[in-house]
Amino acid sequence: MPIDTHTKILATIGPSSASKEQIEKLIDAGADAFRINFSHGTHAEHKARVKIIRQLEKEKGRFISILADLQGPKLRVGTFRNDSVLLKEGQTFVLDLDPEPGDDARVCLPHKEIFQALKPGDDLLVNDGYIVLKVMSCDKKHAVTKVKVGGVISSHKGVNLPNTQLPISAITAKDREDLEFALKLGVDWIGLSFVQKVEDVQFAKKLINGRAWVISKLEKPSAIDDLDNIIQESDAIMVARGDLGVECPIQVVPVLQKKIVAACRKYARPVIIATQMLESMINNPNPTRAEVSDVATAVYDGADTVMLSAETAAGKYPVDAVKMMHRIVSQVESDSLFYKLLQDSRRIPCNASEADSISFAASELSSVLKNVKAIVSYTTSGFTTFLTARERPSLPILALTPNIEVARRLVLVWGVRPHINKESFKSFEKVEECAVKAIVKCGMAKSGDHVIITAGFPLNVAGRTNMLHTVYIK
Ligand code: PGA
Ligand code: MN
Repeated sequence: MPIDTHTKILATIGPSSASKEQIEKLIDAGADAFRINFSHGTHAEHKARVKIIRQLEKEKGRFISILADLQGPKLRVGTFRNDSVLLKEGQTFVLDLDPEPGDDARVCLPHKEIFQALKPGDDLLVNDGYIVLKVMSCDKKHAVTKVKVGGVISSHKGVNLPNTQLPISAITAKDREDLEFALKLGVDWIGLSFVQKVEDVQFAKKLINGRAWVISKLEKPSAIDDLDNIIQESDAIMVARGDLGVECPIQVVPVLQKKIVAACRKYARPVIIATQMLESMINNPNPTRAEVSDVATAVYDGADTVMLSAETAAGKYPVDAVKMMHRIVSQVESDSLFYKLLQDSRRIPCNASEADSISFAASELSSVLKNVKAIVSYTTSGFTTFLTARERPSLPILALTPNIEVARRLVLVWGVRPHINKESFKSFEKVEECAVKAIVKCGMAKSGDHVIITAGFPLNVAGRTNMLHTVYIK
C-alpha cells in the first residue's frame, strides 16, 4: 500500500489504543509506526501489543516500525505520610536517603548519585518544574533546600536537575530487563531516555549489539552540549520536548528544536518531534490553532516523524488525533513552499563521501530528467537510505533491501517506502527488475516513466553506494 506523505506519524500505544480494532483504526488513519512506552504497562501488555501490530502488518501488507521506549533514569521523590504536602515559598525543605514517609520538612529522594553530584546553588525541579528548590547546603546523604517556587508536592513526583550532570547511566536495572524483553519481542527501535553524553549511547549500543536501532531522546541540557557527537553515534534522534521543557527555560525549546533538526539533517539522521503536539485532543475532539501550527512547523522544518503521546495512549480521541495529524501533514506537503524550503536548506557535506555524492546527484537528477517518479535506494544496512532522504527529494524513495529488519526500521525515515526481496540480489539487473516491478505494482510509476536507482558495487556490501543509474520503464 503506498504511503501518501513524506513525513511519518508515530503513535504511542496505551490503554486508549491497545485493542486490535483500535490499532487497526490508527493505521488506517495514517499511523506509520508505534511507540511502546516502558514507563507504563506490564511486560504482558507490551507483548500482546507487539503481537497485534505484527499481525496487522501482515494483514495490511506494509511494514510497521515499533519503538520500545525505555524509561531511563527518571528521578522521583519517595512517599509522604499524608500523600501530599504544601511547600511555601521561602521555607526550608530537606531531601535525604531515609525511606521513612515524608512531611512538610523533609522527604526521601532515593537516588544516592544525586547527593554525590549536587552542589549548593543547584536547582531541583519537582513535578514537571512546578516546584523549584534551591540547594543551600548538601552532603552525601542530605540536601537542605530553600523553596524558590512553592506548591503541592505528592508521593513519587518526578524530579529534574537541569544544571547537574549526574554520574548515572542512561540505562537503569529496570531498563536492562525491559531492553532484553523488548529485543526478544523483535522491536525495531530502542528509545534511550535522558541521554546526557555520547558514552550513554555507546554503552546502550554495546548491549543492543545490532539487534535494533537506537533513538537518543534529547531532554537534558548536557545532551545539547554534546549534540554533534550524540547525533553521529545514534541511529535517530527524538526532540523530547516534555522533559526538555522542564530542564531548559521553556522558550528555549523551539530554538533547540530548530537547531537539532538542522544538525540531524547535516549528519543524515532521522529526527522525531515529540510531546504535546496535539495535547488538547486528549480531552477534545479538535486541537487548538497553536497545536495545528506546531505540527505544521515541524513538517515545514523537515522533521522525519511527528509523534503523538498521551493523545493516542490515554486520550479520549486517539483515532481523531491521528487523522488530524495526517491532515496537517498532507496540507503542508501540498504547499510548494514546503519543497522550496527543504531544497534551499540542502548542503552537501564538505568532506562528502562517494555515497553522499551519489545521493546528492540522485536528487539533482530527479529534478532535471523528465518523468522521474521515484528514487530507488538499494541498501543492505539501511544507512544509504538516510543519505537519500537527507536530500529531501520531492519524489518517493523506495528503499529496496533483502533485510526485513532494515525495511521495518526505515519506516521512520522521511519519504521512505521500504520494500524487501527475500533473497539477496546476485546482479544489478535483478535489482533493477525488482525495483521496477515494485514501483509499478504500487502505482508509483508506469510505462514511459523513469526511475533512478542508487546502489553499491559489489552488491550486498554495506556502506558502498557508488552507482547511479536511470531506468526507462518500457
Ligand atoms: P517521555 O519522553 O514521554 O518518555 O517522557 C518524551 C518527552 O520527554 O518529551
Ligand atoms: Mn521524557
